[in-house]
Amino acid sequence: SVSPSPPAIRVRPLTCTETRRGDRQVVHSLGDGTVHVSAARHDATFGFSAVFDAGASQEAVFEGSGMRQLVELAIDGFSCTVFAFGQTGSGKTYTLMGPLAQSETRPAAPGLLGLMQRSFACLLEQSRSRSSDLALSASYLEIYNEQVRDLLSPGPPCALPLRWSKTRGFYVENQLSVDFESLEVIADLLLQALNPAPPPAGSQRRRTSAHALNRHSSRSHALLTIHVRSRAVSVHPALGTACPSKQGTLCFVDLAGSERVKETGSSGELSVEANNINRSLLALGHCISLLAKPRGKRTHIPYRDSKLTRLLARSLGGSGITLMVACISPSSHCLSETLSTLHYASRARRVTTRP
Ligand code: ADP
Ligand code: MG
Repeated sequence: SVSPSPPAIRVRPLTCTETRRGDRQVVHSLGDGTVHVSAARHDATFGFSAVFDAGASQEAVFEGSGMRQLVELAIDGFSCTVFAFGQTGSGKTYTLMGPLAQSETRPAAPGLLGLMQRSFACLLEQSRSRSSDLALSASYLEIYNEQVRDLLSPGPPCALPLRWSKTRGFYVENQLSVDFESLEVIADLLLQALNPAPPPAGSQRRRTSAHALNRHSSRSHALLTIHVRSRAVSVHPALGTACPSKQGTLCFVDLAGSERVKETGSSGELSVEANNINRSLLALGHCISLLAKPRGKRTHIPYRDSKLTRLLARSLGGSGITLMVACISPSSHCLSETLSTLHYASRARRVTTRP
C-alpha cells in the first residue's frame, strides 16, 4: 500500500524576548489545517493535514501528528522516522524532548515531555501488554561537519565510518547500542549524551556545558534510533516452529538549524559548518523534491550527496515511513525563514512511500 507522509506544522508561542521586543505575530492558524502568513508584503496560505498552534499541548502533538501510529508500525517491523525541521529556536528540540534538554537538574513536568519520551512510554507499555515481549535498544549519533559521531560512547567524540552493503544498505560501523527496559534507563541515556560533563562541583560548569550544547546542537544533526525486536516465541500449531521475529526501527532526527542555509560570508570554522549544513539540508530537500515526483517520472535519487541523506535513505526512499514536523516561530522577525520552512514542508507533502 502507498501511504502519504504528511508533514505536521507546529507554530510555537512568541517567546518572552520576542514579546518584549514588540515583535508582531505574522503566523496564524484557523484550526482547519491551514497556516496563514500575513505581513506587509507577504500574504500566503498553506494547507497541511495537521497544524498545531501555540496553544497545542505536547500530548496533542503526539496524538494528532500520527506519532502513536508510527510507534505501532515500528513494533510491526517497519523503519519509521520522525524528523523535526526549522530554523534555530523554532521549537524542534522542544517538540522532540520537551524543555528537558534546557533544564539544569530538575526533570521536566510530565505534561511537557516531548515526542521521544511519549514514544518510549508507548513502546514499554506495548511491550508489557503484548504476549510477545519486545527487546528495545538505542543508538544515538550526530552528524557534525559531515562526520558521524557516536553520542553514547564515552570520551571525546570520534568520527565513525559510514558504509554500505547489499544486505544492510547504509550503516555506521562500530556504533554503540544500549539495551533498555525502563523509562529511567533511556531518560538517563539521553541526559548523559546531551550533557557528558561529570557531575558538577558547582552548577556553573553544567550550565556552561548546557549552553555550549545548545549552540553546538543547532549546528549538528542528531539521530536517535530505537531498535525494536519482537521476540515472538509462540509456536505454530502445525509447523511446531517459532514465529519469525520482527525487527523495526524508530528514528528521531533533530535537524540542524535551517537558517544556516543562507549564511554565507561567515569566516573560518563557522563558514565550514555553514557549508556543511547547507549541503546536507539542500541534499535532503533535493531528495525530497525528487521523491515528490510521480513514480514513473522519477530519476536517480542522490542519497550519496550527504551523510544525512545516506543515513535517512531507507526511511525516505520508500521502504520506510517518515513523519516530518516542521517547526516555525510566529514572529515577524522570522518571516523569511518561516516562509522557506513552509515551502520545504509543502514539497515534502507530496512524497509517498511504499513500506
Ligand atoms: P530549536 O531546537 O528549534 O532550536 P528549541 O526547541 O530549543 O528550538 O526552542 C526554543 C525556545 O522556545 C526554548 O526556550 C523552548 O523552550 C521554547 N519553545 C519552543 N517550542 C515551544 C512551545 N511549543 N511552547 C513553549 N515553549 C516553546
Ligand atoms: Mg534544538
